[in-house]
Amino acid sequence: MVFDFHSHSTASDGVLSPAGLAARAAGNGVGLWALTDHDALAGLAEARESAASAGMGFVDGVEVSVTWRGQTVHVVGLGIDPAHPAIAGGVAATRSSRYGRAERIADELARAGIAGALDGALAHAESKELVGRTHFARYIVERGFADDVSAVFDRYLSPGRPGYVPHEWAKLDDAVRWIRESGGAAVIAHPGRYDLSARALDALLGEFKRSGGVGIEVVTGSHSPDQFTLFAQIAKQYGFLASCGSDFHSPDEGGFDLGCLPPLPPGVTSILEVLA
Ligand code: AMP
Ligand code: MN
Ligand code: MN
Ligand code: MN
Repeated sequence: MVFDFHSHSTASDGVLSPAGLAARAAGNGVGLWALTDHDALAGLAEARESAASAGMGFVDGVEVSVTWRGQTVHVVGLGIDPAHPAIAGGVAATRSSRYGRAERIADELARAGIAGALDGALAHAESKELVGRTHFARYIVERGFADDVSAVFDRYLSPGRPGYVPHEWAKLDDAVRWIRESGGAAVIAHPGRYDLSARALDALLGEFKRSGGVGIEVVTGSHSPDQFTLFAQIAKQYGFLASCGSDFHSPDEGGFDLGCLPPLPPGVTSILEVLA
């Protein structure tokens, strides 16, 4: 069965509504789909309903922003109960600092010569409290300062660039606890994307496991084929379930389309066995 356990709707920084994503996933042959918006659960009800109408299985998900040793790390929660106060309260608290960060990002961008970025980003976001860097990136492309979203991140929005502001997200063990208490499985998103030494990655995975984390993404739009192999090996070594998700945001911003991912490498235990 084709599954895709990582995607974004207009409830965070995706461009399609939950219903639009459901239709696209079903059209691409996805049998079991998870919506995993950043620090947001607002799209899940519509996603679940639309998936059911399309005859597709659905898993309630979320992608929680975490700060671990000064680095941003994303933790995906799968199979959560979105009504549970642990996850609902946890992501609401995490989300509540997004607007203040956005004001600081806009100030930095103004200093770098890009005016009007706060209003510009907000025009791309469904609400003030979920505004993120992708919304800024879309505005900066619109203004012609870069050709695409990925170029904006390279030039303005990544650590060390002029529009980047450090931010303190949730703590790793809190994020894992919120997910577990609300009935979900915690998975480290795109582990190959973090700027960590082998030693630091080992510390992250060890701490995550001791907190109750059960999986890592192996096949994701953020990994190269070499990293599929590497993280399959790491999943086996640490006893993690292997997850797979496109991290789809938009039909126009590159990466894998919903459900259009290579299969998990042989020898791993797929998270599908636990969540299906
Ligand atoms: P935020 O949570 O507001 O810091 O935004 C994080 C989001 O920015 C990620 O989920 C991606 O959608 C996007 N992002 C981060 N780095 C890049 C990149 N290099 N290229 C394109 N999008 C990126
Ligand atoms: Mn995103
Ligand atoms: Mn992520
Ligand atoms: Mn994501």
